[in-house]
Amino acid sequence: MIKTVKRTYRFRIYPNPSQKELIEKTLGCCRQVYNDFLSMCIESYEADKNRTINKYDLIKLLPEYKKTFQYLKEVDSVALQQTVIHLYDAYMNFFRHNAAFPKFKKKKNDYGYITMKINNSIYFAEDDIQIPKLGRVKVKLHCHLPESFKFTMVSIARKGKYYYVSLLGEEEYFDYGEYIKESLDPNNSIGLDFSLKHLFVDSNGNHLDMPTYYQDSLTRLAKEQRKLSRMKKDSSHYKKQLLRVRNLHEHIANQRKDFLHKVSRKLANTYDYVFVENLDLQEMGERKDNLKFGITIFDLGYGTFLNYLKYKLEWLNKKLVKVDRYFPSSQLCSSCGYRKTDLTLSQRSWICPECKTKHNRDINAAINIKKEGIRIILNPSN
Ligand SMILES: [Zn+2]
Repeated sequence: MIKTVKRTYRFRIYPNPSQKELIEKTLGCCRQVYNDFLSMCIESYEADKNRTINKYDLIKLLPEYKKTFQYLKEVDSVALQQTVIHLYDAYMNFFRHNAAFPKFKKKKNDYGYITMKINNSIYFAEDDIQIPKLGRVKVKLHCHLPESFKFTMVSIARKGKYYYVSLLGEEEYFDYGEYIKESLDPNNSIGLDFSLKHLFVDSNGNHLDMPTYYQDSLTRLAKEQRKLSRMKKDSSHYKKQLLRVRNLHEHIANQRKDFLHKVSRKLANTYDYVFVENLDLQEMGERKDNLKFGITIFDLGYGTFLNYLKYKLEWLNKKLVKVDRYFPSSQLCSSCGYRKTDLTLSQRSWICPECKTKHNRDINAAINIKKEGIRIILNPSN
């Protein structure tokens, strides 16, 4: 059966200087429209606290508003319209869902703007992508766009010195249905144990680390951040250095994503089931926030990695299965089932007192995760 699924494809773009200028101008104009229309909403709210706003009434104000500021005509009009819709949504969220009242936008938080594909206003041609107002911008297609992918919304974004285009749309895929799932082979599976030392250790006894070039980038980031921390805040050197640190952050995030995509694709292609521990990622995330400098962002990769792995497996009608986070994967002997309750965190290897098997802590855990995963899928009720 053919089904559709929402998808976003993001590609790096390389605007020339005048295109960069226009992107900045568009961001500035969107910010102005957002803030001025927010002021109008606030006035309306203060006049009558129960009065809601009609979306189309708000959009209708835009042409009149543009007459006052002629330069708004230089930028993509769809982007300005989308800004008003975005503000409307934020404002109505405040009414309907008790969300926070929308805040004024500041220049330093500028990130991107949204435009729409109308008729054939956005398309790929050779090494370029045609974008309204910007014209043809050089683009790097790191992956193939499926023929069935249809998009209407497009965002143009800047992060540090990098520019991106994201296509938001829908894609068709063939769903083989439940009968294929039943034919999956539990033996064609692998258990993964996430450890602090490696990205993971698997039940076949292999381990995988983040690549050296990634580690090198992290070392460089730590160095640049130390430099930054010694500079006088708001000085011109500080601002320059801050930009350097931000760019490096973005570069590292991209390196990490690339690598995790490759690893998860390989696992999904090879195995029918992948078993993992159900980690408390929120707890991990909170720990990250306590760290001022991002040298230990290795643990941030897990959430992304599991995410990639899950959808890549599901894409192929395969499965990611999580075992209970309180399952004692490290303490059990994977050969005889003996449980060593006094195993400490520092013990990297141990010998089972029952069957005398010598265990590597992480490999043993990965094998147990696989065994527990197979047990879960064969007896889902227990
Ligand atoms: Zn044993």
